[in-house]
Amino acid sequence: MRVFFVASEMAPFSKTGGLGDVTAALPAILRALGTDIRILVPLYPDRPRMEDLRKLCTVHIPFSTTTGELWSLYDQPYIWFLRQPEYFHRPGGPYQDPRGQDWRDNAERFAFLNRVAVEIVQGRVAELDGWRPDIVHLHDWQTGLVPYLLALEEKVGANRPATVFTIHNLAYQGRFAPEMLRRLHLPEEDFHPGGTELYGSFSFLKAGLVYADRLTTVSPRYAHEIQTPESGMGLDGLLRTRSGDLTGILNGIDTTIWNPGADPSLPAHFNSGSLTGKSACKTHLQSLLGLDTDHGMFLLGMISRLVEQKGCDLVLQLMPELMRRRIQMVILGTGDRHLEQWAQELAARYPGRMVAKIAFDECLSHQIEAGIDAFLMPSRFEPCGLNQMYSLRYGSPPIVHETGGLADTIQDAGDGSRDQGNGFIFRPATADALRNAIDRAESIFVQPEQWQRLQRRGMAEDYSWQQTAQQYITLYRSIFLNGSLEKY
Ligand code: ADP
Repeated sequence: MRVFFVASEMAPFSKTGGLGDVTAALPAILRALGTDIRILVPLYPDRPRMEDLRKLCTVHIPFSTTTGELWSLYDQPYIWFLRQPEYFHRPGGPYQDPRGQDWRDNAERFAFLNRVAVEIVQGRVAELDGWRPDIVHLHDWQTGLVPYLLALEEKVGANRPATVFTIHNLAYQGRFAPEMLRRLHLPEEDFHPGGTELYGSFSFLKAGLVYADRLTTVSPRYAHEIQTPESGMGLDGLLRTRSGDLTGILNGIDTTIWNPGADPSLPAHFNSGSLTGKSACKTHLQSLLGLDTDHGMFLLGMISRLVEQKGCDLVLQLMPELMRRRIQMVILGTGDRHLEQWAQELAARYPGRMVAKIAFDECLSHQIEAGIDAFLMPSRFEPCGLNQMYSLRYGSPPIVHETGGLADTIQDAGDGSRDQGNGFIFRPATADALRNAIDRAESIFVQPEQWQRLQRRGMAEDYSWQQTAQQYITLYRSIFLNGSLEKY
């Protein structure tokens, strides 16, 4: 089976969140399971280096004189980068400029990626020696035009591969003014509520959701939630009509990268059999960040995009009160300016007790997971979430709001006496409910034997891709079996 992934980011080359982790790990495991896979991502500055790449060809797209180049990695030739310096070689991030504003030409940039993908899958790039996928697997709004463009090709009699569209986060909808249709050379006749229109805007996400053959999202609970008006972000009606085609498949974690037994970022290693190394990681983290090196402090951590979704404001609201107790706090994140500033102001007020690192720092994120006692994830909604699973593996029981993938992965430990659960769950998403869960966690933390049993239970769980990747294969196969690919 030949599968083509198209995505806007892929770790370690580009990553703004969980999407980059997934598009790195999932294709690798699907390959190991026997899938003939290729992945296409834009080439952003810095990584990978040009000397690690080999040029495959130049790609032309319809309606435009702009061309792109395909390059593949020498040592992983199944990873293809789209080089188009005007669109993708810029300072800042994949979607935003250095001041945190969306790039003004995001529609054109990602439409270009989508058009190139379609040229490839339709076999119009001669240099690729006839490689054509059976299934095109798209990820989030940045690739939502692909199913639509392929449906347009089918309308005029062309064969096309089947399409699977995965929702990593329904909140990002790729919405643009309707005038964009003309700029992107897209037909206006499909701009209506049953097509590409989303409440007056043209939406890449909507195009993906309407025209893909199958939809998936990244946890069973989120698959259910997005079909309700409360969590459907205006798309619940459409998702209900497509519920027969929608599956929730839990993301996995890459246990080679997230392995406390051998993680090169850590000063000491540990596993569920021996937690001594974790104490060394805590002391190291405290001194690295300038926190008081007091082992008895209950050290809480949060690594997150600092946006409303993640509920960081709930944590910040509680800080003055938590700082009166034997609690320390470390926050690593970037995002909304007011949340960044608020976190920094609080950290300045509580030296030795609270740290706010406004940065995207992969190495520090591993050191935090290992060095803290418990991880805070009070997300208002969370499609899957990866950090709670990293935390389980690193012996840092997660304290989470009961939503989406957090509810699918965390079971409450209660008061710790019954040896059950792997973390702490609260609802609703309020500072009060969060405080309650932190109180319960702290009351177990001060009983080291019970706490260690809780840590060990979480560390023994398996949230690796080995558990869930097979479900994608089953999904791909089901498309074959029910005949969607007959014509192809
Ligand atoms: P989302 O995709 O909504 O941001 P996830 O929990 O699914 O949330 O994934 C977030 C990923 O990004 C995790 O791998 C997390 O460690 C990483 N991450 C987020 N912020 C930072 C940061 N400031 N520094 C390092 N890694 C970060």
